[in-house]
Amino acid sequence: MADNALASLKGALRGALITRDDKDAFTAARSRGWNRDLNARANPLAFAVVSGVRDIVTTVNFCRSNKIPIAVRGKGAHSPYGMANDAVVIDLMKMTAVRVDPQKKLAYIQAGADGGDIDHETALHNLICITGSVSHTGFAGVALGGGLGHLSRWLGAVVDSIVGYEMVTAEGKVVRVDEATDPELFWGMRGNGASFGIVTEFVVRLRDMPNSGIIRSAPILWPVDKAKEVMTSWMERIGRADRKETETLQFVYMHSPDGHPVCGVVPLIVGETEAAAKATCDELAAFGGGALVRQDTQLPYTALQAALDGLLPFNQNYWDKGVFIDWDPRDGGAVSSIVNAAVKQWSEKPAFASKVSTFLIFMEVSGAVAKADPASTSFAARKGRLWCSCIISWPDDDVSQRAASKMWCNEFTAKLSRFHVTTYLNNAMPESEVEMLEVFPQDTMNRLRSLKQKVDPDNVFKMGAWQYEANM
Ligand SMILES: Cc1cc2nc3c(=O)[nH]c(=O)nc-3n(C[C@H](O)[C@H](O)[C@H](O)COP(=O)(O)OP(=O)(O)OC[C@H]3O[C@@H](n4cnc5c(N)ncnc54)[C@H](O)[C@@H]3O)c2cc1C
Repeated sequence: MADNALASLKGALRGALITRDDKDAFTAARSRGWNRDLNARANPLAFAVVSGVRDIVTTVNFCRSNKIPIAVRGKGAHSPYGMANDAVVIDLMKMTAVRVDPQKKLAYIQAGADGGDIDHETALHNLICITGSVSHTGFAGVALGGGLGHLSRWLGAVVDSIVGYEMVTAEGKVVRVDEATDPELFWGMRGNGASFGIVTEFVVRLRDMPNSGIIRSAPILWPVDKAKEVMTSWMERIGRADRKETETLQFVYMHSPDGHPVCGVVPLIVGETEAAAKATCDELAAFGGGALVRQDTQLPYTALQAALDGLLPFNQNYWDKGVFIDWDPRDGGAVSSIVNAAVKQWSEKPAFASKVSTFLIFMEVSGAVAKADPASTSFAARKGRLWCSCIISWPDDDVSQRAASKMWCNEFTAKLSRFHVTTYLNNAMPESEVEMLEVFPQDTMNRLRSLKQKVDPDNVFKMGAWQYEANM
C-alpha cells in the first residue's frame, strides 16, 4: 500500500490512524488485544482508532476502494479476528457511551463498549442487559454471535433482547436495521452479525432486576478429589424438571487462591427471599458430604458480572474451546460418562497451565435460550443444556506450549463428542464445512449465504465470522 494513500486516510479521519511507521504506537495498538498469543501473530497494516460513525464510513470506503481487508474490534478485543494480517483494523475503543432510557427500558450502546460499561449505567435504574460473563469482554463480539451471559437461562441470549442496530454497510452507507426496516438483515445480524456490516450502535431491551439488583451467588468449593461425587449430584440437580429459570447453577474446575485444584458450584439465584436462596445453597453445599469453602452470599448482580475479570486478565497467552452438550437426565450412564470425562480432562491439564486462568466451565444455557424459536434469529443452534468450555493460559511465549494447550482443549471437546449437539460461533470459530454446519444448521446457512450475497457480494466484511467462507 502506497504511503501517500494511507496519508490521505490519516488526513480524513478525526481519530488517529496508526501505521507501521508509528513504531511505539503501532506496537502498543498491536498489544492491546486480550490474548497475547494472538497479538504476536497478527500484523495489520494500520489501526484506525475512529472517533465516531463518520470515521468508520471514511475507513470502509477507503478500504473498499483500495481493496484492503478490514478487521474490526471494540474495547473488549477478546476475539481472534479483531486483528488480521495486512488489514486496516477499525478500532472502536473510543466509542463506549451507553445511554439508558428507563421509561422505555432501552439501552443505546455504542459498539465499542464492554459489559462493564453497560452494567455501570443500567444498574443505576435497577435494570439489566444480558452481557458476557466477564465484564471486560466487548458487547459487540458477544452480541453479534448470539451472546450468552450468567443469567441467560432466565433472560435468553443477548440477541433475543436486541431491538435494532445502527450500522455501516459494505457500500459505506449508515442504516438503521430493525424488524420493520429490514427483517431479513435484522434476522441475520442476530447470530452472524460481523459478516454484514459494522455496527455503530445497538438498541437493547432491558429487564427489571428484582430485589434492587441483589442476587445470591459466589462459588461453593470442594477439593478436587470430591469432583466425581459433587458433579454427579450437581448434574442430577440441574436435571430436575421443576426448576425456575431464575435459578442457574454453573459448575467449574479451577484452582484455589493458594494453588490447589478445586471444583465448585456457582449458584446464581434471582428474585428469591434471602432465606429461600440460602436454603437452596445449603442444599448444594451438602453435596459430597459437605463443601470445603462457602462463599455464597447476597451481592449486587454487577459484582457477579465482574467476578471473573481478575482471573482472565489482558495480555496473557490463552487458548479456549467449547461445545454445547445435552443428555437425557434420566440416563445415569450419560451422567457418569460426562462426569468421568470432566474429571479426566482436569487431571490431564498440562503442568505449565496457569493456576489462575485455567478452567473447565459448565454453564447452563437451557431455559429461555432453548425456548426461543430457532428460526427467530440466525443464532439458531440453541440446543444443549450445557455450554462446556475449556480455557487454558500459559506463561511463556513458547509455541510448544500453545500446541499443547490447543491439544488439551481439542481433547476436551473430543471426550464430550457423544453428547455434542451444537457449537457456539463465539468460542469455536469454524474451520470446515462440517464445523460451520454445527454452528449454523443447513437451512440457516442457506439463508445466511443468500443474505451475504445481497448485502455484501464482494465480501468486504470477511475477517469476522465469515472468515471460514473467505478462505474457501
Ligand atoms: C474471557 C472471555 C470470556 C468470554 N465470555 C463469554 C460469555 O460469557 N458469553 C459469550 O457469549 N461469549 C463469551 N466469550 C466469547 C466472546 O463472545 C467472543 O470472544 C467475542 O468475539 C469477544 O468479543 P469482543 O467484543 O471482546 O472482541 P473483539 O475482538 O473486539 O470483537 C470480536 C469480533 O466481533 C466483530 N466485531 C466487533 N465489533 C464489531 C462491530 N462494531 N461491528 C461488526 N463486527 C464487529 C469482529 O469480527 C471482531 O473480530 C468470552 C471470551 C473470552 C475471551
